Amino acid sequence: MSETMLRENLRKLNPLLSEFLKRPIKHFIDGQWVDASSGDTFTNYSPIDESVIGEVAEGTVDDVDRACKAALKAYRPWAELAGKKRREILHAIADAIEANAEEIALIESWDTGQPLRFMSKAALRGAENFRYFADIAPGARDGLALPAEQHMNYSLRQPIGPVGIITPWNTPFMLSTWKIAPALAAGCTVVNKPAEWSPCTAAMLTKIMDEAGLPKGVVNTIQGIGETAGKALTQHQAINAIAFVGESYTGSEIMKQGAETLKRVHFELGGKNPVIVFDDADLERALDAVVFMIYSLNGERCTSSSRLLIQKSIAPEFIEKIKKRVAALQVGHPLDPNTEVGPLIHETHRDKVVSYFNVAKEDGADIAVGGNKTTLNGKGYFVEPTLFTSANNKMRIAQEEIFGPVLTVIEFEEEGEALALANDVKYGLAGYVWTSDSGRSLRLARDLDVGMVWVNSENNRHLSSPFGGMKASGIGRDGGDYSFDFYMETKNVCIATNDHSIPKLGKT
Ligand code: NAD
Repeated sequence: MSETMLRENLRKLNPLLSEFLKRPIKHFIDGQWVDASSGDTFTNYSPIDESVIGEVAEGTVDDVDRACKAALKAYRPWAELAGKKRREILHAIADAIEANAEEIALIESWDTGQPLRFMSKAALRGAENFRYFADIAPGARDGLALPAEQHMNYSLRQPIGPVGIITPWNTPFMLSTWKIAPALAAGCTVVNKPAEWSPCTAAMLTKIMDEAGLPKGVVNTIQGIGETAGKALTQHQAINAIAFVGESYTGSEIMKQGAETLKRVHFELGGKNPVIVFDDADLERALDAVVFMIYSLNGERCTSSSRLLIQKSIAPEFIEKIKKRVAALQVGHPLDPNTEVGPLIHETHRDKVVSYFNVAKEDGADIAVGGNKTTLNGKGYFVEPTLFTSANNKMRIAQEEIFGPVLTVIEFEEEGEALALANDVKYGLAGYVWTSDSGRSLRLARDLDVGMVWVNSENNRHLSSPFGGMKASGIGRDGGDYSFDFYMETKNVCIATNDHSIPKLGKT
């Protein structure tokens, strides 16, 4: 059954892939598909079988300059368009994403190695992101009435101007929509620089947006390398803000690069998220969530629960159960609907993840399951789903973001110790708590130094809730009105309501 569906998915994928093989993916500047000004391209490979997907235009400083100027030229007309009209266009984009969701999911799986079972949902979530921000676009400018004794103050918002959006390779389609949709709803124009390891669905999204009626210049896509094209975008005078999703180190580089032009920045960065399981929790549900939150999406997920903090009294039994589940995970071809774990995005990233297997041994942890790289028919950047036990929080496997299907287990005695361990990392993105004690869940939700806490739940999306991290995990929040706070300026207007006294200087 799964063999048949894999063959069927490959049959559907092949014509889509032949398009990418035929001609290089181009930039999209001012409504036109164009090659890099240098004519240079780079090669994009599938991590599943290491085959060439196609060539991709390699963005230059000049390409970025043209894209930023196009975004600047398109800015006023787009910002002045009625909110209702923006809503209409964003809904048209969502309709087109839904209509193309299967193709997007197949290509995203092939380009990133993510199992299709997750990518199908991710494509539809991209459409949801557009719908959600479409509906709140008409109210984006709304402000507050702030009456004072002799003045009427009111606030209003206006878009910040052209923005740069720089996205990573993990679930790249969904993440691009999560950034681009609110920017457009706010009235900003965009230059998007997708990750060089996953360029395909960014091109598909750009085509969809164009065909759905987005005026030319409103979204421009520059393919290319972070240290050149990405850097030029963060330094460009016409760009007023940078929304960035990626590694903490890159965030810090971008802050430096954008300093001269005083860029506003929004960073969604790395994580080393704790999931704390207490002995009073519903342990079957906790087990499902722990396994899901680290081994889904190949563990290449910013909110993955990569550190399990487990109460000592239940540790042996719980760890045994995890071992069985991890050993039974279906590693395989991402287009096979049964596959739960696919290959990692790139050879370099696979090697980084594999290097932690040695680090674990050197630090004195046990590799209870996995701990090897592997292949499918001799190809691909696969690693075995891996479980580290007998670890402590000082080890590198507990402190550093590995970003693969790798879980580090640390035991604790009581609540205070669990909290201290949870907070003792440089990151602060998400925390998960499993307990039936409501007081304890409230205390931990209050005291965890993270931007998001899920209690008795896996990561659950709610589009108007604030999404983002503390410490090295980020600056700023996405979601609902929080996104508009970033993509818009808040202006105050103060009007005298009577002839209040004005200081009289220079009056003799
Ligand atoms: P990365 O930082 O290497 O690259 C991200 C993007 O930045 C790419 O498009 C890259 O080309 C670009 N870039 C690299 N150097 C640049 C520079 N000097 N100037 C401008 N742009 C530059 O990250 P990655 O490896 O692609 O993605 C994985 C990381 O993303 C992980 O750390 C993960 O936790 C993080 N992430 C965070 C969230 C979140 O919401 N917090 C979500 C997804 C991913």
